[in-house]
Amino acid sequence: MYRIVPAAVAIPQTVADVVSLVRQATASKTPLIPRGAGSGMPGGNVGSGIIADLSIGFAELVIDTHAHVARAGASVTWSRVNEAARPYGLRLPPDPSSGAFATSGGMVATNAAGPRTVRYGSMRRWIVGLDVVEADGTVRTVARGQPSARFTLTTADRRLVAERFPKTRKNSSGYALDHFAETGDEIDLLIGAEGTLGIVTAVHWKLDPIPPDIAGAALGFAGLEAMADAVPYLVSLNPSAIELLDETLLRFVPEAPKVACLLLVEFEREHAAAARGAAGDAVHGLKHSAEAARSVLPNATEVKIVVSGNARAAARQPTVAPAHRGRLCAAGGTRRVRRRSSGSGQASRHSRRDLWPCRGRPRSRERAPRYDARRLA
Ligand SMILES: Cc1cc2nc3c(=O)[nH]c(=O)nc-3n(C[C@H](O)[C@H](O)[C@H](O)COP(=O)(O)OP(=O)(O)OC[C@H]3O[C@@H](n4cnc5c(N)ncnc54)[C@H](O)[C@@H]3O)c2cc1C
Repeated sequence: MYRIVPAAVAIPQTVADVVSLVRQATASKTPLIPRGAGSGMPGGNVGSGIIADLSIGFAELVIDTHAHVARAGASVTWSRVNEAARPYGLRLPPDPSSGAFATSGGMVATNAAGPRTVRYGSMRRWIVGLDVVEADGTVRTVARGQPSARFTLTTADRRLVAERFPKTRKNSSGYALDHFAETGDEIDLLIGAEGTLGIVTAVHWKLDPIPPDIAGAALGFAGLEAMADAVPYLVSLNPSAIELLDETLLRFVPEAPKVACLLLVEFEREHAAAARGAAGDAVHGLKHSAEAARSVLPNATEVKIVVSGNARAAARQPTVAPAHRGRLCAAGGTRRVRRRSSGSGQASRHSRRDLWPCRGRPRSRERAPRYDARRLA
């Protein structure tokens, strides 16, 4: 934990306020630190200069239902974007667990992601434009597909980036030179730049239709290694979300099963049967190979939850996060686990009635690859 007391805090209400703040800071050589909800933990939102609190003033939100685009002011949270889009069957798919309070500006600046990143990537993929104020006070809209006049990479630079940049599914460290080298789009440098290349005043989010059905499973593991070994199989089932709850979180849930970790896996599909089938495959694909699995995944897949529900009708919140807030309870000696409503409204999208009886395997419309212990060895 650390604390930095700023020289001043400014709360701009308009783009003109931001422009004059930027000009004053530039003229007086005072660091200017944009700040949204302050939920980012690496500390990019604190500093000794002037804090520009953008969590309040930029609250406008317009949904274009035809273009599937939301124009959200920098202060608009992930939750608000999704609440406004939901009646039209739309959503912003990446779901940072801080979505209830994280602002649009902060999510862009950190290239935030969440459990759904496994299928939907991070915020980068869902940003079509940014309204920014640059260091000299210039106000611009930077759109996807717009090459940068401000920044360039030489051919040698591009080659170096291609050779040396980490090949990860998500990377929020430093500037996204890999994406910039690929597209040449200025927006790719601004996303994840933590406000160092400009202050974001509005975001043009691309929205996606909410898939009709959803089902999920919770898989318990005796150790992190065993869990990691199972992930390639689960990824092959095309999940829409995966989240790990390890003992640092599970110890706060008295009813949690006695496992080293839980993997929460969610499947979005066009039909309930397909969603439930995929969740069933997640459980049974591991369990059916129990003999082989035992040697590779000792004590794996002893815990399972399978729940399903109509995703469009349901109140959508950060995907598998309810398990943080919901309550897990062991059901009898079989070590099945069922999710109960915590009264937060979160669990209501999966009713008890929807719980898939663990003894019967639902018929999947999609053929799932069988778990192959040899692949894990
Ligand atoms: C409980 C919790 C759960 C989280 N879960 C996830 C997760 O699942 N996945 C994930 O990727 N991240 C997660 N995060 C981190 C997440 O990326 C940030 O919380 C969030 O995106 C930051 O938004 P914010 O509004 O709080 O920004 P802040 O924390 O206030 O700022 C973050 C950075 O963005 C800059 N910034 C803020 N607003 C602007 C602006 N308008 N213009 C330019 N720069 C700006 C700041 O200077 C700072 O560098 C989590 C954080 C918490 C606390």
